[in-house]
Amino acid sequence: MTLQVGVIGTGMIGQDHIRRLTKTLSGARIVGVTDIDQARAAAAAPEGAEVFTTPTALIASKEVQAVVICSWGPAHEEQLLACIAAGKPVFCEKPLVTSEAAALHVMEAEVTHGRRLVQVGFMRRFDADYRRLKAVVDNGKLGAPLMFHSVHRNASVPEGLYTSEMPLNDTLVHDADISRWLLSDEVAGVEVRVPRRSSRGGELRDPVFVLLHMASGALVDVEISVNIAYGYDIRGEVSCEAGVVALPNRPAPMISDANGIRQAIPEDWRERFIEAYDQEFREWIVAASRGTATGPSTWDGYAATLVADAALRAVASGLLEPVNMVAKPALYGPPTAIAAE
Ligand code: NAP
Repeated sequence: MTLQVGVIGTGMIGQDHIRRLTKTLSGARIVGVTDIDQARAAAAAPEGAEVFTTPTALIASKEVQAVVICSWGPAHEEQLLACIAAGKPVFCEKPLVTSEAAALHVMEAEVTHGRRLVQVGFMRRFDADYRRLKAVVDNGKLGAPLMFHSVHRNASVPEGLYTSEMPLNDTLVHDADISRWLLSDEVAGVEVRVPRRSSRGGELRDPVFVLLHMASGALVDVEISVNIAYGYDIRGEVSCEAGVVALPNRPAPMISDANGIRQAIPEDWRERFIEAYDQEFREWIVAASRGTATGPSTWDGYAATLVADAALRAVASGLLEPVNMVAKPALYGPPTAIAAE
């Protein structure tokens, strides 16, 4: 069976996912696209795909069996609720939504529907290196995880478009989600420290240093630097009771020139996580073809939203800000296992 997919939002990542679904992966066909900018949607539409005037019309179409949302965050709530009301599986780029209230609306709708329909775009969980890291943490031979050091560096961000809130409510969500997943834990509180400002970012609050207090007592430190110049550099190391496990240096061509011998660093997230995005969609196609969803859930999107909110409060207050989650609905699995103190 070929899954008939409609894509909402044909900007940067929407176009990349359209390429992925039409040229790289099998099992899906794009039958419809829509964007606020109709010309952009028409330009991005693969051959034979209908260009819908609104997300509502695309979601309602009988031709569309499953939906990919790549519009900007504030539009996600309404589009997710329409997909759930139509009973259609939906892949939603992060952020799930942009407020706690919106996350609770989506969760309530999905729980009432009674079957998982939503997968959130936290692609790091599909990266082979992170999966191997988690397998080592999970097998328990190193003992309980005590600390996770996460480094998230971007070469640069678009001037004027990327604001001082975004390291905390846009970039940090990936580190927060991978921390919860790697440690099988929840974030209980967030602290933010702002070191000396990088002159490369102008007035931007960059870098930031975030401390996630996990419910088990484990600590996660996150360096977010978004104007680091040299490339897109993602690092991670988990310190356990009897050993340490880290992401490997990625295999990359060795370059020898007048400056010596060096390895190339990915330019951006598209290059670093290209296989992870492919795998994320492979697994989405399988689940959506069965009328459901697996992988990062509405619950995970809700958790990331709360962490972002707490981080923004923490940078303003200078205090440890708590993350207070509602009880986890059974639809999203058992309550997160927290290692004994
Ligand atoms: P983008 O280039 O601005 O594309 C978003 C597109 O959606 C634009 O064409 C925008 O039109 C359109 N749009 C906005 N509201 C819409 C609506 N209500 N209905 C239909 N189309 C709408 O942004 P992007 O970089 O592709 O990001 C899109 C989403 O992906 C964001 O949520 C972002 O956080 C996420 N993202 C995730 C990753 C990841 O690593 N997983 C990486 C990049 C982006 P206008 O430009 O006219 O507003």
